[in-house]
Amino acid sequence: MAKICVIGTGYVGLVTGTCFSDMGHQVVCLDIDADRVNGLKHGVLPIYEPGLEQLVEQNVNAGRLSFTTEYAEALHNVDYAFIAVGTPSNDNGEADMRYVRMAVTSIAENLVHPIIIVNKSTVPVGTGDLVADMIVHQNGKTTPKFSVVSNPEFLREGSAINDFMNPDRVVLGSTNRDSAEKVADLYEALRAPIMITDLRTAEMIKYASNAFLATRISFINEIANICESLGADVKEVSRGMGMDKRIGSSFLDAGLGWGGSCFPKDVKALTFMAATRGAHPQLLQAVMDINFNQRVRAVEKLSNALGGLQGKTIGVLGLSFKPNTDDIRDAPALDIIRMLLEAGANVQGYDPQAMQASKSAIPDLELCDNPYEVAQDADALLLATEWNAFKSLNFEKIKAAMQGNVILDGRNIWDRFELHKMGFNYLGIGMPGFGE
Ligand code: NAD
Repeated sequence: MAKICVIGTGYVGLVTGTCFSDMGHQVVCLDIDADRVNGLKHGVLPIYEPGLEQLVEQNVNAGRLSFTTEYAEALHNVDYAFIAVGTPSNDNGEADMRYVRMAVTSIAENLVHPIIIVNKSTVPVGTGDLVADMIVHQNGKTTPKFSVVSNPEFLREGSAINDFMNPDRVVLGSTNRDSAEKVADLYEALRAPIMITDLRTAEMIKYASNAFLATRISFINEIANICESLGADVKEVSRGMGMDKRIGSSFLDAGLGWGGSCFPKDVKALTFMAATRGAHPQLLQAVMDINFNQRVRAVEKLSNALGGLQGKTIGVLGLSFKPNTDDIRDAPALDIIRMLLEAGANVQGYDPQAMQASKSAIPDLELCDNPYEVAQDADALLLATEWNAFKSLNFEKIKAAMQGNVILDGRNIWDRFELHKMGFNYLGIGMPGFGE
């Protein structure tokens, strides 16, 4: 059993801390957000992640998991300090390192015994060295023994616990192999492949992985747009491609594109890093352009089908950036809603988890209690996020509620022939017409 401190109680930090405690380690989770910590102390989670509330409760009750805002308390006697704070984008695309720097400064201030600092935040290549420099600079000759290990996280919101407990691989980067192996020990129970490499390579693996996944989605979206102009069906194209073992089927679903707290900022940050070193990341730039264009195209499709958007009512199903999360950071739905509102439409929406956050982000968005209320008097319905609850709706009821008949299935989840037969003007992404 190890003693671990996890800094940051967001999607990554809270899942990491809770899962480590569930594996038998003694974990203190720290956050500078006192409301978060206070809530966690009373069993109120700051985020929605399936299964997490119960796992937190179990491990708190077992005495293995606790929460604090105090660095001195969190770092007391721990062997490892995991940094899992946010690294959002600056306006120029560069990763904003202020939270990482703050966390490192606080660690340095409270460092009184040897420790391994493990960086789980997604950080620019070279940050591991920077962390080490910052600590030595701050503490000088009195610095206790410490080392820095990069341990990028690959979990996905919505399936974070399962992803953490069953990783495809654990990547560890360090200038100190012994420390990397000590971090590997923490994961031993998971029986996952462990890759130990140098610091910068580990940091790069995370960016390259996210950029590749984003590229696959933008690739299939570009193919979808070509399919539309040529009368082919991208769903079948994707299925046919995915059966090729060299290609595989994951991340090949055409739709409104990617969003969230990772892909957008990580592709931007990688592009920034490349550009500042004199490289020309043309592919990454195209990947981002295609992605944004999917949102614009969705608005254009609605406008074309409705003969303009002024005064029209659009119902939007799904607001979070993907299903099973309440995270709305860079959600395609929200960008599309902003464009619709700007074009003079009224927008009413529903999401199983992301309603209040969406309303705070876009006050003009009307919230509804369920999908059928979203359809009420709508000229068009847009499926933006493919929550399971939207997969089998009663379309007779939807049709009766709607004023118009336009459906834009932004994730290609519905049976287009069925909806067409029912009299809807069905629009998908990368779909051929109905041939009348
Ligand atoms: P988040 O925004 O949900 O949470 C970050 C937390 O850190 C917040 O609670 C904030 O209050 C806290 N914090 C900020 N500064 C602090 C400080 N100095 N000391 C203590 N706490 C501090 O972020 P997240 O989504 O969990 O992402 C964290 C990191 O993990 C990012 O670098 C992200 O790119 C990476 N990552 C995220 C995901 C994901 O799916 N969200 C997946 C893999 C990697």
